[in-house]
Amino acid sequence: SAKAAGSNQWSFFKQQMTEQAAVRLRTEASLHDALKNNEFLLYFQPKLDLQTGDVVSCEALIRWKKDGKLVSPVSFIPVAEETGIIIPIGRWVIEQSCKIIREWQKQYNFALPISVNVASQQFADASLIPDIKQLALRHQVSPELLEIEITETSLMNNIDEAIVKLEQLKNAGFGIAVDDFGTGYSSLSYLRHLPITTMKIDRAFVNDLPDDNAIASTILMLGKQLNLDIVAEGIETQEQLDWLKEHDCPIGQGFFYSQPLPLEEFELKYVLPNANEVGTKSSLTAIN
Ligand code: C2E
Ligand code: MG
Ligand code: MG
Ligand code: MG
Repeated sequence: SAKAAGSNQWSFFKQQMTEQAAVRLRTEASLHDALKNNEFLLYFQPKLDLQTGDVVSCEALIRWKKDGKLVSPVSFIPVAEETGIIIPIGRWVIEQSCKIIREWQKQYNFALPISVNVASQQFADASLIPDIKQLALRHQVSPELLEIEITETSLMNNIDEAIVKLEQLKNAGFGIAVDDFGTGYSSLSYLRHLPITTMKIDRAFVNDLPDDNAIASTILMLGKQLNLDIVAEGIETQEQLDWLKEHDCPIGQGFFYSQPLPLEEFELKYVLPNANEVGTKSSLTAIN
């Protein structure tokens, strides 16, 4: 009967909810353990000057080494945000990045900026800005070498508070990039007031190049007008790269150049060749 079917659906729904809650609880518990047991690591993806091909910066991307396998941040960052454990995880990402920036300067005499992703919940936390300042100071990192990436959607969630916080970060000298630009709902009038330094064109629009280029063109034009650095994310093909170069996009990252790499491999490919004095030992030993 219809009634029986309805009741079956309800119990199915309840069962699903319970399973989801159980998975969340298990993940939360294991995220705590992961932090305690040092199971997180950072991968690095280079950002290149599209005209010269030089590495100009890199993005730190978190991975979770769980039972010998790498877990993608897409699956655990949302849970970390819901449960609040994103705050210590995010702090770990920032501190680790500061240590690495400093090591590259010390070992290789190479000042390469690192961008770190900041989640919405982390950005909303009152300790974020004092933490960033304190960590940069403690590890003797010049603020221009640390860039914060915040998605357009996180910024627009609480725009008035966001402006105040970004102002503080910018005044302290840190770089600020709007990540996944074009996927949120920025109003242009707000964008003008945001104290940001960089816009990252979301990879969905880079993926559409070269034929479907209305959005990429518009973002490039906007960035130029607002005097911002522009980074194209997710460049995968020569054709996409050619279009971006022709349209004066200054910086890009993507699998066409490089996947995100483990620290050691990133150093070999992108840091060591730029060393002004050749270091003798890997900075890895100093960091871990
Ligand atoms: P995102 O910040 O937009 O990072 C770009 C993502 O696109 C990365 O995925 C990167 O590996 C991937 N990617 C780069 N180039 C290409 C390409 O050419 N093609 C394709 N298909 N993908 C490309 P990943 O590392 O899995 O990170 C996914 C998202 O997880 C990030 O998106 C960011 O939102 C979040 N995330 C990563 N690390 C952290 C972190 O330390 N903290 C926080 N809060 N979020 C993080
Ligand atoms: Mg990012
Ligand atoms: Mg992005
Ligand atoms: Mg993204």
